[in-house]
Amino acid sequence: MLDVRGPAGIRSAAIRRQALANWLRRAAKRDFSERVAYWSRRMGVHVNQLRIKDQKSRWGSCSSLGNINLNWRLIQAPSRIVDYVVVHELAHRIEFNHSPAFWRIVEQWYGDPQPARQWLRAHAAELHQL
Ligand SMILES: [Zn+2]
Repeated sequence: MLDVRGPAGIRSAAIRRQALANWLRRAAKRDFSERVAYWSRRMGVHVNQLRIKDQKSRWGSCSSLGNINLNWRLIQAPSRIVDYVVVHELAHRIEFNHSPAFWRIVEQWYGDPQPARQWLRAHAAELHQL
């Protein structure tokens, strides 16, 4: 349960917003951990560490060491969109670039990425509102 009231009563809008953001961030950690475990098993790739970040201009990233970063704000998006970002980052474990070979891997596991990419462009401002 999310309780953002203090003993003094209703807290300021900024504090409530921060409490909600913190709660969503924890929810994102649980949800994204499961998705990364599921997709990495299916795709046969190894993930070193998953970190939940607040990146202003990106939804996810993948280092050459296999560390995946995902933006907690994605928890506000439909799960199909989260899966796209997860598959995208995991595909970088195979192709560390955005070559045609990389996009073939994304298509193989996820299907056509264009609707998800468009959705993210169209809703970026909303996902950053909190
Ligand atoms: Zn990429």
